[in-house]
Parts: sequence; structure tokens; C-alpha cells
Amino acid sequence: MSFSISFSPETVHSKPDLWFVFRGDALLVRLAETGADVPDSEDITVLDQKIIRSHYLGALNGVNCYTAEVDGNAADPKGMSFQELRPLVGLLDEEFFSAAGRAFQIIHWERTHQFCGRCGGRTGPKAGERARECPCCGLVIYPEISPAIIVAVVRGAEILLAQSHRFRKAFYSVLAGFVEPGETFEETVKREVREEVGIEVKNIRYFGSQPWPFPNSLMVGFMADYESGEIRIDESEIVDAAWFTSNNLPVLPRTGTIARRLIDFFTEGAGE
Ligand SMILES: [Zn+2]
Repeated sequence: MSFSISFSPETVHSKPDLWFVFRGDALLVRLAETGADVPDSEDITVLDQKIIRSHYLGALNGVNCYTAEVDGNAADPKGMSFQELRPLVGLLDEEFFSAAGRAFQIIHWERTHQFCGRCGGRTGPKAGERARECPCCGLVIYPEISPAIIVAVVRGAEILLAQSHRFRKAFYSVLAGFVEPGETFEETVKREVREEVGIEVKNIRYFGSQPWPFPNSLMVGFMADYESGEIRIDESEIVDAAWFTSNNLPVLPRTGTIARRLIDFFTEGAGE
């Protein structure tokens, strides 16, 4: 599978284009018993609502992909519905979810950068780049990406998991937090773990990353070893935190998230 990014379609493909259409933050999909599908250009012809904005995204496995936003009052077209993006993790195929996240970030960025943050002028698209430009003062605005670390802290056969006030449901996960200006990822890992649970970590190593379009995070995953300290939670952020062994795990984040991949990596013994 591959996604090639570009700003205008270069080739005509035999398959109908895929359309990632948003109403507010909700994505248009066709729900089935076991999953969800993204509509194509033929499905989209039934959309009679005015398209507020649209972008060419690139090609997914050779199929051209577009994103668009429709009016907030748009009704669900027959056989399809607008669904919140987050619960679609695991329902959409991974590559479709990833493309949907890419689409959402572009739409959200354009929607929230209609005016220049420096002079207040109305911005417009910049030719040849995924950027907006202010014709009054020349400010160029690129899509925002907010890096955040996510870290599995391991102590021998135990992993540190916490329940956050931010979680919509009562599950336990690894710790995460946004990178502050001027920080390295390693510094963010140490600071977040210290702030949230009062523990010092060492031997921080890169695990992998996942774009997380809520609205524009890039989760950068790490493994780290316990160094010192006792769990002392920051009650404004954390409901509970504890050490768990792989045969005694609490309710975990859903499959398809980097949080779950980190935990699975540990429980499969590879985190040793
Ligand atoms: Zn300006």
C-alpha cells in the first residue's frame, strides 16, 4: 500500500476517484456490518449540497483521492452517513483511515486559517504548494502538525498504564503529552512521565509514529525503562496509574492505535 502526495492529479486512473467528504468534523462513509467504506466519485454525484472547499490529496494505491467540506446543514445521502472520525479507527481499513486523517487535517487547517494571524487580511491558496498566503502582508501559512510523545514505561515484567481524564471511556493506556517549543522528544518523554506519575525513566528508544488527526497531532512512540521513583499521580491529568503484568491487564485502547501497538509489543515479550 502506498500514498503519494501531490497537489494536482497527474494521471487519469481507471478506478473512480475516492472522496473524503466532511460535514464539520464528521466523515461521509457507508457503514456495513463489519466495517465502513469511503464513497467514490460515482457515489458523490448524489451529494446535492454545496461544497464549501475541496482539495486534491494525492493517490492511494494509484487511485486519486479528494477531500471536501459540505455545508453544516447537509443531510445524509441515501445509504451513507456522516460519522465522527475517531470511532472509525478499526472500522475503516488502516490505509483508508490514514487517508481520512490526512484529509481531515487539510480541511480543518483551511477552515481555521481563512484570515491572516498577522494583519487580519483574508488569506487565499498559494500556487504550487499546500499553503495559504496573505495578499496584504505576504504571510505564508502551512498546515499545522503538533508533535506529541507517547511512551511505554517498562519495569522488568511490568508496564506502567494510566487512566486519563482525557479518555472518553474508562480504559488504561501508556502516557502521552505534547512537545513544548524547544524540547527534544527525549526531554518531553522525561518531563511528561515525571509530571504525570512522578517517575524517572532512562534508556528511551524510538518505537514508531502515527498521525493522529484530532485535530493535528503526530504521535511519536517510545519505549523507556523505569529508573527511580514511586507512582505519584497528577490528579488534574490522571485518574489512576499502576504497574501491570501481561497476564493481568486492564481494559486497553482499541486496536489500530499506536498506544495499543506499544502495549502489544510489550505483552508479546519484545519489550524486554
Ligand atoms: Zn497578512
